[in-house]
Amino acid sequence: MNCPNLCSLFYTNKDSLVYGAPRPDVRRNQDESEGSRHYMDMEYFGDSAFSVVPRKFDDAVAKYSLDTLNKYGTLPYVVIAYMEKLTEAFRSQNADSIVFYAADLSHYIADAHVPLHTSINYDGQLTGQNGIHDLWETTVPEVEILNYKLSSRHKAKYLESPEQEIWKIMEHTFSLLPKCLQWKKKCRNILPIQPNTAGKYAGERTGGSIPVRLQRSIPVL
Ligand SMILES: [Zn+2]
Repeated sequence: MNCPNLCSLFYTNKDSLVYGAPRPDVRRNQDESEGSRHYMDMEYFGDSAFSVVPRKFDDAVAKYSLDTLNKYGTLPYVVIAYMEKLTEAFRSQNADSIVFYAADLSHYIADAHVPLHTSINYDGQLTGQNGIHDLWETTVPEVEILNYKLSSRHKAKYLESPEQEIWKIMEHTFSLLPKCLQWKKKCRNILPIQPNTAGKYAGERTGGSIPVRLQRSIPVL
């Protein structure tokens, strides 16, 4: 499938992509095993987590066991697994499967760009900041979405090693966690967020971090 065909396939099916992207979260309600696919609690793996955790799923299972990974999360491995499903869909030129797996993959890639999806402190519950997850992922973006500049003029680039790339992303995302938790402290006084105050307070105080993370996730897909 050449590029013009690909662009037109995605353009024609843009509604399916948009409505399909939250599907992995919906699956969590039906499938117990789905939850751990959306995060990886990097603290569990120690201070050198990004050096010691194997890049390949089978190696990680051999090192930590499947139970441990299911408990502390498998997100980067799931991105690779869905990339492979999407690649297979392209090989078989199955348009429905391409759209389906592209939407799923976009969800997991976006999760890998959210600092709270890389931490045991996923809802600020360990630092007295309960509710930050919803605030960061839902409340503020829903109010501010029209202020975000999300268009991207990037060109697709071939990744020599998708495993290295997703782990680089996970490491960068995890490094943003302190800044993310700091943001909640700044927001504490203005909750609950009202539509007219979100842009003035919450948005500015994120340092633009939510739209930046959204932007950064686009070219990865
Ligand atoms: Zn998710």
